[in-house]
Amino acid sequence: MSKKKTIAVIGGGLGGLAASIRLQSRGHQVLLFEKNDHTGGKLHDVRLGTYTFDFGPNTITMPHVFQNVLQEAGESPDDYFTFERLTTHTKNAFPDGSSFCFSSDPERMEEELAGLDPKSAKGYRSYLKEVSHLYELADTHFLKRTFSSWKDYMSLPLAKALMSVKPLRSLDAFHRQFFSDGRIIQAFNRYATYIGSSPYRSPATFALIGHLELNDGVYYTKGGNVEIAKGLTKAARKLGVTILTGTEIERIETSSHRVTGVVTKEDHFYKADGAVMNGDLLTQVPSLLDERVRPGLSNKKMERFSPSVSAFVMMVAVRKRFDLHHHHVFFNDDYKGEFESIFTHQSFAKDPTIYICTSSKTDPLRSPDGDNLFILVNAPPLTKKGLMTVDTKEYETLIFDRLREHGIDIRPFLESKKTVTPEDIANRFYAFRGSLYGIASNRRSDTFLRPYNQSADLSNLFFAGGSTHPGGGSPMVILSGMNAADSLIRELGK
Ligand SMILES: Cc1cc2nc3c(=O)[nH]c(=O)nc-3n(C[C@H](O)[C@H](O)[C@H](O)COP(=O)(O)OP(=O)(O)OC[C@H]3O[C@@H](n4cnc5c(N)ncnc54)[C@H](O)[C@@H]3O)c2cc1C
Repeated sequence: MSKKKTIAVIGGGLGGLAASIRLQSRGHQVLLFEKNDHTGGKLHDVRLGTYTFDFGPNTITMPHVFQNVLQEAGESPDDYFTFERLTTHTKNAFPDGSSFCFSSDPERMEEELAGLDPKSAKGYRSYLKEVSHLYELADTHFLKRTFSSWKDYMSLPLAKALMSVKPLRSLDAFHRQFFSDGRIIQAFNRYATYIGSSPYRSPATFALIGHLELNDGVYYTKGGNVEIAKGLTKAARKLGVTILTGTEIERIETSSHRVTGVVTKEDHFYKADGAVMNGDLLTQVPSLLDERVRPGLSNKKMERFSPSVSAFVMMVAVRKRFDLHHHHVFFNDDYKGEFESIFTHQSFAKDPTIYICTSSKTDPLRSPDGDNLFILVNAPPLTKKGLMTVDTKEYETLIFDRLREHGIDIRPFLESKKTVTPEDIANRFYAFRGSLYGIASNRRSDTFLRPYNQSADLSNLFFAGGSTHPGGGSPMVILSGMNAADSLIRELGK
């Protein structure tokens, strides 16, 4: 191992926490800087009286990824957080009154599909096989590695894998191969939103999400998903990471193509031998690094990336237990039109698909006096000028009205609520135009040619988070944190 070095990690989201734990457990001294007063980034809890909500990731897949961070640092994951598998996890409800559940039990799933369309049920096993194959390819070739330059793409196995993961077909076309019922296709197409993209544009590669949910399973963290962030923070502290919350980094100092330290908003300089940028690189690289030292990520080069979807979120405390599943989706009649609104016209859908996570269905102690409804509608990212294209109060009313039409009449039972808009997400986390998952995967170039994990200009600066490889979503950013830390360790050992 190389001599103990001081590493600055900018941002205490899941990617930053994973990188910090890795670096510290490999003998380096980490200084973790987080501008907000809590770690976990987008994953944090919100309290409204006796009601508690997980903001950020509600659907947890790949639990081994979170556990590995601790295990590989010599800690026992069970001392920090435990997962509960939700076998029949999501109810999909349609405007014609029909519904079916997603389940990681294949027999139950076949029954559910057969209730809507026996022909689609027959295609299910071959669908499962195909998505599992896609996942294996991605796991072998993309998920466990960093990308530092174009040369990393120039290997024959990777080129073969790139062609095998169906980059030229859309996710929607992939699903139509296996299923014939429009409602079933619509429910599977929703997986594109897990990477903040449109199923009609994003490559079929992302059908692998179906493997994660339906073969592997959907999980809930006992006590709330925020326990993941709390557990990683506790482990980081135990290992010796210095965590400075409420501390915003305003500048990265460089010399001879290397980072030499970071400067806080209060003008405090911290010397560093290397750095991991966990804050969204599309906002933080331009604001922390002088453009002259980063020709590889010039402002012009960064203009080619487009943001993932944002969200309009309402956390609503009600004095009632509604007939809802832990994960419940109310679909609309025109799914394609919804994505056209978001990505082509940058407008909020007039009849949006509404997702509700009610963790109190699995864990009533999260809100003992009624349901804790986390209501999420996909929203366009902010415009290039940073503007939001909807009136908050009017859109809240529209969502309540739509839910009443679906039989969920919230207003008579409303205890309190908190709304979070794309503008709030941009301001609070410095997320690129309020995106949830960094860069969208609507174009092949954005999927496979994201900004590299290593700066092309500053050899000891690495990136971790949704805007770099392997992409957005909580397990992916953890992987990028681990990968970035490993690469930085190798770099420091040179
Ligand atoms: C509403 C919502 C729902 C979601 N649902 C899911 C889901 O169901 N499943 C799933 O897997 N994922 C989901 N996600 C996505 C998931 O939350 C993110 O992919 C993940 O949490 C991002 O982690 P990160 O570490 O990359 O970034 P972040 O969580 O954004 O962390 C980056 C941190 O850097 C800090 N920072 C930025 N700049 C600076 C600076 N200059 N100085 C100091 N600190 C700085 C920010 O304050 C932030 O805390 C959802 C996200 C949202 C918002």
